[in-house]
Amino acid sequence: MSNFMIAGNWKMNCGPSEAKKLSDDLAKRWPSGSFQCDVVVSPPSISILSVVDALKGTDIATSAQNVHTEDSGAYTGEISTPMVKDAGCSYVIVGHSERREYYGEDNDLVAEKARKVILDDLTAIVCVGEKLEQRKSGNQEKVVMEQLDAVLNKITIDHAPKLVIAYEPIWAIGTGETASPKQAQEMHLFIRNFLKERWNEKRSSEVKILYGGSMKPANAEELLSQNDVDGGLIGGASLKEESFSGLIEIAEKLS
Ligand code: PEP
Repeated sequence: MSNFMIAGNWKMNCGPSEAKKLSDDLAKRWPSGSFQCDVVVSPPSISILSVVDALKGTDIATSAQNVHTEDSGAYTGEISTPMVKDAGCSYVIVGHSERREYYGEDNDLVAEKARKVILDDLTAIVCVGEKLEQRKSGNQEKVVMEQLDAVLNKITIDHAPKLVIAYEPIWAIGTGETASPKQAQEMHLFIRNFLKERWNEKRSSEVKILYGGSMKPANAEELLSQNDVDGGLIGGASLKEESFSGLIEIAEKLS
């Protein structure tokens, strides 16, 4: 298989000084050429510049956590794809469940954002995943299918290399509870097959499918060992150099 991806989502943590310290520590631990996998960190927008600067001389890429669908204009508080590119980002997280839940981002808006990110030549890390009650009622595949369908309707098969999907069961985010490796693999296979049906085998295999939801060094090996788990989107454990580096080490060992 291709390389794993280890992506940290710092959420609303680490202002510029703290972000610089964490990035400096990562840069010391992981100089250029020290790993094979794809490693990405996603600081809050105000810290992007200090992170990009601190990570020069490493192979760690920087991601934004959200963007608007327009390039510029009267949208107070927003940032755009040209801006994050100019700042040095190569990825954008799109449709994180916290944005869906607290900022009313529905499937259509998430799909528009994913399209904008990809057409502007950034890689979109599109988050999908079900709520606990949706899993309890057996609707998890339907929910994820609708979330994915909206995105695939807005992009084309040629965009596959610019798409990363993060399966994040909402009940496992920040709760300490993880999907079992079996639950993760089942959903990742469902997503892979959905991509295969919509596109084809080759293109579906080009899309990395990350697992997100309380991933940490203690549970990562089992999750990353599943056939269709290509990496992790990590919240809490990405905020400490030691635990994030531990995840990179596990991904490297399994590569
Ligand atoms: C996330 O928010 O993307 C996430 C997976 O968080 P955590 O690892 O803290 O559950």
